[in-house]
Amino acid sequence: MTENQTREARETSSLRAEVRGWLDQNWDPEMSTREWWERLAASGWGFPHWPADHGGLGMTHAASAVVVQEMVAAGVLGPPGGAAPTMGAPIVFAYGTAEQRRRWLPSIARGLEGWAQFFSEPGAGSDLASVQTRAVRDGDEWIVNGQKVWNSGTMESDKALLVARTDVDVPKHRGIGFFIVDVHQPGIEIRPIKQMNGSAEFNEAFFTDARVSDADRIGEPNQGWAVALHVLTHERASHPGGGDGVLKQVHGGERAGYLDRPAGQVMLEADDERTANRLPISDLDSLLALAREHGRLDDPVIRQRIAHLHAFGESLRLTQLRALVSTSEVGTETSVVYLGAVRLVRLYRDLIGDIAGAAALLDCTDVSDSILTAPCHGIQGGAEQIQMNLIGERILGLPKEPQIDRDVPFKDLRVGTQRVTAAAASSNGST
Ligand SMILES: Cc1cc2nc3c(=O)[nH]c(=O)nc-3n(C[C@H](O)[C@H](O)[C@H](O)COP(=O)(O)OP(=O)(O)OC[C@H]3O[C@@H](n4cnc5c(N)ncnc54)[C@H](O)[C@@H]3O)c2cc1C
Repeated sequence: MTENQTREARETSSLRAEVRGWLDQNWDPEMSTREWWERLAASGWGFPHWPADHGGLGMTHAASAVVVQEMVAAGVLGPPGGAAPTMGAPIVFAYGTAEQRRRWLPSIARGLEGWAQFFSEPGAGSDLASVQTRAVRDGDEWIVNGQKVWNSGTMESDKALLVARTDVDVPKHRGIGFFIVDVHQPGIEIRPIKQMNGSAEFNEAFFTDARVSDADRIGEPNQGWAVALHVLTHERASHPGGGDGVLKQVHGGERAGYLDRPAGQVMLEADDERTANRLPISDLDSLLALAREHGRLDDPVIRQRIAHLHAFGESLRLTQLRALVSTSEVGTETSVVYLGAVRLVRLYRDLIGDIAGAAALLDCTDVSDSILTAPCHGIQGGAEQIQMNLIGERILGLPKEPQIDRDVPFKDLRVGTQRVTAAAASSNGST
């Protein structure tokens, strides 16, 4: 070991001891989730990579990963999860005003609010910059009309990150605004979408003269694209797919219903949380239990595939850690980890089906749930083809895809034979 490595190992082991000591003193499964999250926020251990003057401990991502490992090992409920800390906090730090940081970060750290994500539209998924939902300035507010779709957890959320068109006279990437909008207001109608795995975890949302304050705009009025890109990078990093040793987390906010329940009980239920669309069978222990239940543990091919899956999962976990320690910011390498996680989920899906055989056809079991939930991995957080484009262009330096609409004013773009602005007006009733 070099001198540096020895010093790092010493620091890591003293950090581990410090976290373990704090958890020993503070974790009590009987305490309410609200109280537990308050303790995590007040001490800084909930989000140790946040700056010290905003409720964190100013740690590197590598050191924070050590803190998470200790929480997993101790079997405690993690800090609040969901879009507020994984996507909201990074953009509030990067683009928010001092006032917005003071207003939002403490409640995100304590899980007092749940946030959702109003990005995708029927005509804007991979090509998010084509959003047609309009935001028009009206004094200190913006009036929003349009439609969003595939929005996870909207019903349980208080606020949402909204991407909307603020200017149609400029090319599409240059006329986008970014807002934090109140979800439950008269101008927003939310309709659940039933998925093939039986749950209705995401929704569509219709905006009819909905309102958002200008104080809740992040970044300049027409420069929301940069903010949206920042969110997408962090979103990719928050979809680990499957594997062992995952921190148990649930969404914050009153509507999610966890705040006043015992943290230990909530942690047990976090296994079943569908918000990140985790497969019910997505760790080695449950896979081994399934193989045992179906008498397949002695099958040499099944054993070999379980070993392969475990090795792949471990190399993915270590790749993710390496990406964390080698950069100070979340970046393009998250696309590589994302694609690896998608592959891991598919390895689980195929193996689960082959172990269970005809039993996989039974409805409403962990086996069928796992198989029916798997396809969303590789779509949520961005389609896998788009991640491959990112890897090609930004890591491998391949030529960019041709983009014929990059310099055309948004109002002159066409969907089919219609101008997009005309299509937007007919779909949301605005002029
Ligand atoms: C479980 C789940 C949860 C989600 N949660 C949210 C949420 O909370 N909020 C939200 O706003 N959205 C959410 N989404 C939507 C998600 O972001 C989009 O589905 C995703 O970005 C893909 O967009 P799309 O569905 O419009 O597909 P499209 O963009 O229409 O893509 C269709 C196909 O074409 C391919 N394709 C498109 N463009 C290219 C290209 N340039 N090169 C190569 N291939 C291309 C895609 O890879 C894909 O295979 C969620 C989706 C899922 C499945």
